[in-house]
Amino acid sequence: MQVRNRLLALLALAVAATSVQAADAVVVYSSRIDVLIKPVFDAYTAKTGVPVKFITNKEAPLIERIKAEGENTLADLLLTVDAGNLWQAEQMGILQPLKSSIIAANIPSQYRSSSDSWTGLSLRARTIAYSTERVQPQELSTYEALADASWKGRLCLRTSKKVYNQSLTATLIETHGAAKAEQVLQGWVNNLATDVFADDTALLQAIDAGQCDVGLVNTYYFGRLHKDNPALKVKLFWPNQGDRGVHVNLSGAGLTKYAPHAAAAQKLLEWMTTPEAQNLFADVNQEFPANPQVKPSSEVAAWGSFKADSIPVEVAGKRQAEAIKMMDRVGWN
Ligand code: FE
Repeated sequence: MQVRNRLLALLALAVAATSVQAADAVVVYSSRIDVLIKPVFDAYTAKTGVPVKFITNKEAPLIERIKAEGENTLADLLLTVDAGNLWQAEQMGILQPLKSSIIAANIPSQYRSSSDSWTGLSLRARTIAYSTERVQPQELSTYEALADASWKGRLCLRTSKKVYNQSLTATLIETHGAAKAEQVLQGWVNNLATDVFADDTALLQAIDAGQCDVGLVNTYYFGRLHKDNPALKVKLFWPNQGDRGVHVNLSGAGLTKYAPHAAAAQKLLEWMTTPEAQNLFADVNQEFPANPQVKPSSEVAAWGSFKADSIPVEVAGKRQAEAIKMMDRVGWN
């Protein structure tokens, strides 16, 4: 009897230990690739002992998977890029609001969902890249000015299918209203030097190679290419410094609606907004920390400081459908 009781007690302990461990693990579905997230999660595990498991894929299949898994989802956090994508996830009902005084203190409200469904973790500007051989920076001023006839046959754009351009267009509509935004977009399309590009890196290489003189890119693509080729004949320009500022978007994360380990996931997400984690997360992809108390890496700081648009980035989601239709109307492929 005594032996049986002791065995039962041991069994109970083993079960308790297993459930404690399971409760402590956090599962992340991430559209950011391994090399960009593993160092952050490893640092968190080293500090807290909490294991972080993750799978990586494109955002669309991850969002679909969380939706399909429903109440049985394994995912605690969805981590992805662009407010347009996070807003879509929010609209699909797969995220839950997370009220956290730590996150609210660390991340400016313009980089968070107004319903607290997601928060930005790192920032990237979508800005003007120009040829140092064929463009003087004094010729540049605003995104809108790239619609002027003086840029005819000189502009390169990425495809309108990419959410980055949809988000930029959404903020143009929010700022100027639909009529003026459409004029700007039409001007850009009229000024194209060549077909749209599948990615920002190819676009930057086209500027370097002389195929076009200016283009719109996310800053980290410039950073990566410049690191590989310091002789790159391309530089970044910060537009709209006399008015609203540069378009800034983000990578970010939200707590899933049926997160099995919501409390542990909240702790991880809060930690990711702290100075301790912000450089780890931003520097590896040459991004800007979303926490304004944290300085960017020296590589990123070397591009110079700029005024960012203060528009809440969730506008990118709210006006995404409108933006896609407008891009289609003006013939932006
Ligand atoms: Fe990207």
